[in-house]
Amino acid sequence: MAIIIDGAKLAQEIRTEIKNEVKKLIINNKRAPGLAVIQIGADPASTIYVRNKIKACAEVGVESFGFTLQNTATEQEVLSLISDLNADSRIDGILCQLPLPVHIDQNKIIFAIAPDKDVDGFHPYNVGLLSMGNPNALVACTPQGCIKMLKAYGIPTRGKRAVVVGRSNIVGRPMALLLLGLDCTVTITHSHTPAEDLPAICREADILVAATGKAGLITPEFVNSDQVILDVGISRTTNGKIVGDVDFTAVEPIVKAITPVPGGVGPVTIAMLLKNTLASYRRRMAD
Ligand code: NDP
Repeated sequence: MAIIIDGAKLAQEIRTEIKNEVKKLIINNKRAPGLAVIQIGADPASTIYVRNKIKACAEVGVESFGFTLQNTATEQEVLSLISDLNADSRIDGILCQLPLPVHIDQNKIIFAIAPDKDVDGFHPYNVGLLSMGNPNALVACTPQGCIKMLKAYGIPTRGKRAVVVGRSNIVGRPMALLLLGLDCTVTITHSHTPAEDLPAICREADILVAATGKAGLITPEFVNSDQVILDVGISRTTNGKIVGDVDFTAVEPIVKAITPVPGGVGPVTIAMLLKNTLASYRRRMAD
């Protein structure tokens, strides 16, 4: 039986810490940290993510500023909104919920957000700092949350083998950089890694991070009994159930520790968004 890494509980603890810090700011007559959340269009999954982020802000006392734009909004309209938010002193963090409508260039939007308000950690400035191992980077929330989970459960990283399945800018790449920064020997795999090679590569891992969005990709032949698995994937089955990349029922009895889906990486990701917003607030107030 594996240790179940309880993301919901850890996220609650982090939110409580943040809530207490925000309370202290307010007692000292400081303004609350502010997070702007932009949604373009009405993609149902994005609507749920945005709602959860705004709810989390309210719970800890971070002031949220929601902006919902029509699916038909032009790139220029979005850029103009971001420019206003960059200049707005009440706002410490700006996030634009992805994916964007196809007529909007995602890179242009990411590049437009001021690096010191880039609480998603997607701006090249922050990605550059992360790749240099610079602690001042605002780091993408999901991989940052994964590291938080490893630390919270006392899982060693120095000299360990880590395999990251997936190489997106949002999860896989920053995840690999963070693990590298913690002295893991890191392997990154992706859709061109031959499918017949993938199980053996993954089996070598002390820490396996699955971030593909392919439900049930990770089966018993990918794992070993000393392995810690962080399952980032989120997929919805035909009967509406949320599942991860790991075949949890088959794999959980074999490995040392594993995150469940739901209740694993997801809640900690949102807690990291709040943490980044508070960090950005503190830096901006110190300037
Ligand atoms: P992307 O689709 O951007 O990236 C998926 C990655 O997986 C790509 O690098 C792709 O390779 C790789 N991949 C796809 N199929 C395979 C395969 N069979 N074998 C090996 N690699 C494969 O997704 P994201 O990184 O944005 O998200 C990944 C998953 O994590 C999704 O399910 C998403 O919903 C979830 N997610 C969860 C979050 C949370 O809070 N829990 C937050 C963010 C995402 P290639 O580059 O070659 O195409």
